[in-house]
Amino acid sequence: MNRSPLAALLLFSVCWLYSSLCSATLSSNELTIVQSFFPKATRIDEKLADFPVYPVYQLQQLLGYAYESADLTDLPGFSGKPIRLLIGLDTSGQFTGVQVLEHHEPVFLHGLGQAPLYRFISQYQGRHLTEHIVVNSRKQGTSSGNKGPVYIDGVTKATVSVIIINDSILSSALQVARNKLEGFTQAPAVRARSDLYQPLGWQQLREKGYVGRWQLSQPEVEATLGQSISNYPNFDQLDDSEYFSEIFYAYLNAPTIGRNLLGRTHYQELMNSLKPGEQVFAVMSRGAFLHVPDGFKPGTVPGRLSLEQNQLAIELRDLDALDESFRFQSPETPEFDRINLFRVKGHAGFNPGEDATLQLNVELNRNHLIQDQATFSTPIRLPQELFETVAVAPVPERDSAPLWLQLWQERWAEVAILIIALTVLSLFFVRQRHYSRNAKRLHRFRWGYLWFTLVFIGLYAQGQLSVVNIYTLLLSIYDGFDIRIFLLDPIIFTLWIYCFLSLFLWGRGLYCGWLCPFGALQEMLSWLAMRLKLRQWRLPDPWHRQMILVKYPILLGLVITSFYSLTLAEQLAEIEPFKTSMTLFFVRSWPFVLYALVLLGLGLFMHKFYCRYLCPLGAALAVIGRLRLFSWLSRIEQCGSPCQLCKRRCEINAIRRDGSIDYDECIQCLECVAILQDENQCVATLQRRKRSRSIPERIASDRNHQADQITVA
Ligand code: SF4
Ligand code: SF4
Repeated sequence: MNRSPLAALLLFSVCWLYSSLCSATLSSNELTIVQSFFPKATRIDEKLADFPVYPVYQLQQLLGYAYESADLTDLPGFSGKPIRLLIGLDTSGQFTGVQVLEHHEPVFLHGLGQAPLYRFISQYQGRHLTEHIVVNSRKQGTSSGNKGPVYIDGVTKATVSVIIINDSILSSALQVARNKLEGFTQAPAVRARSDLYQPLGWQQLREKGYVGRWQLSQPEVEATLGQSISNYPNFDQLDDSEYFSEIFYAYLNAPTIGRNLLGRTHYQELMNSLKPGEQVFAVMSRGAFLHVPDGFKPGTVPGRLSLEQNQLAIELRDLDALDESFRFQSPETPEFDRINLFRVKGHAGFNPGEDATLQLNVELNRNHLIQDQATFSTPIRLPQELFETVAVAPVPERDSAPLWLQLWQERWAEVAILIIALTVLSLFFVRQRHYSRNAKRLHRFRWGYLWFTLVFIGLYAQGQLSVVNIYTLLLSIYDGFDIRIFLLDPIIFTLWIYCFLSLFLWGRGLYCGWLCPFGALQEMLSWLAMRLKLRQWRLPDPWHRQMILVKYPILLGLVITSFYSLTLAEQLAEIEPFKTSMTLFFVRSWPFVLYALVLLGLGLFMHKFYCRYLCPLGAALAVIGRLRLFSWLSRIEQCGSPCQLCKRRCEINAIRRDGSIDYDECIQCLECVAILQDENQCVATLQRRKRSRSIPERIASDRNHQADQITVA
């Protein structure tokens, strides 16, 4: 943007020249991007027939390759559509640039805006494929001159999209490097011999080199760091016999190693759980500095430990397959402070028959401000007799990465809390009549649950369902259903499954009355309005009946638009104030904030105004809820005629004049069920009680009444 007009003109001319010279499928815009990745380029060739990359030359010298990520990986984004990236990789394996060509990630399109996405992808420029790139917002950068992990900043609230982008960039670049870049090509692939098994104990495994050991002494670490270990408050001076770090590693795919360490059953279970091409290392350590720190999150990539082969970083990801009680099979196995199983994905192309390097990244804090860092490496060469050559090189598995599984592993605690909460709610609803007998208890439970919904489901776990999820589902059915798209967000997936099932039992009300974070927020504002004694507006019944229909055409319009243009439908979905309130906490451009505040403001005077009249998601749930199997809410003959108490007390106005419940509108607050069971409130019960009073009582009461009248006279 800062280029002079002359430079821009030159660039345009060059691009025009290229576009006329090469018959590549790159558009002129894409050619401009590739040119910016390789400013010295004088020629961009057409896409190669044998591998989908565009070679870029300066005269006759190959500078690198440009390629589209979607040609090499087909990971769907959070919206269900792939994120198309144009990537430049020079001949040394350095990223010369990454640019987004097309994406439909809602959080960037209409939430955070494009700027955080561009900021995120800009971090790859200048990074090298040999680097151990870890997305972690809490740590950033790496000390120059060493080979520790490179932490790149994630994007808060867009974790899933960012992980997908990172995976797409790295896995596609690895494929380009292995296929096209000199120095990265692999030796003939080998695999562990499945027919080779020999019972061996720990000591024998060690002697044969099947379990490797790497010892890092204190003087070695001090020499590299240039500091005495006593300068680091978290470390005590070690005895001569103690190692700073003692790491053992074993390649478990080989039966002689895996079976002997894990035992037959565990080994078989582990192998069965792996995808084709996946490999597993066991890493054990003891000493002052372990291979993963305290508080290491299971299922994630370790920052301290990395693997490198052929100059390429190979991602290790914890399998989260061991619990505290795990013990190795051999009784001679020493005690370790930490044991992890790490998976190497199929597309990483790790060749166990080739030399590799294990690296330990040591970061030590001298105080709050100063941190020293050093990376130590040890070569790994697994005994060749364990392997056999694979006749045909295995095709890198393009989408074998079960990204959804990693995300579920990372968020297992949130999912567990949610499932417990949903189970409690289901039990409560199954026995709703019993629990509603005590109105106070009902109110306490409901308010407790609404707070949980707002704070945990909405603000913390980001579990606000949206009409956009419905587009994604319909478009996915239209384009070919792929469950992986929906599994990418474990909280949303769990909520949708539960919501869907509950629609057949209780109708729309269970979600709208108990599990919708924005709905909960509105209920809280209504409560506040009552406390402030704000006058409540109630539309006359005929008007209300007309107004509740407004949300259906909104839903229909949005769904039809999504088939025409997903982008437009996503923009129109801004009728939902969810993103502004729940995702972005009102930190957004003012028109969106104003819109959300107006809706919430209206809710102060009209209970759940947005839910009743506008919400397209509520409309969709009401439509599906029509298929519900039961009408659980109790009614009696007198409801509606003569009694209108429940109708008056139903804040959402979901009870018709004749006393029947409109389940399309009802939010299952159970207020009417409580009234019906409260013998001091339900008019029918009061009448019955009055009638059943004994005749003598009535006569006595009449006499007293007459006496009172005489006294007054
Ligand atoms: S109507 Fe919409 S906003 Fe209201 S509770 Fe239901 S889904 Fe949530
Ligand atoms: S009062 Fe009854 S009808 Fe009205 S929303 Fe609550 S449960 Fe539904």
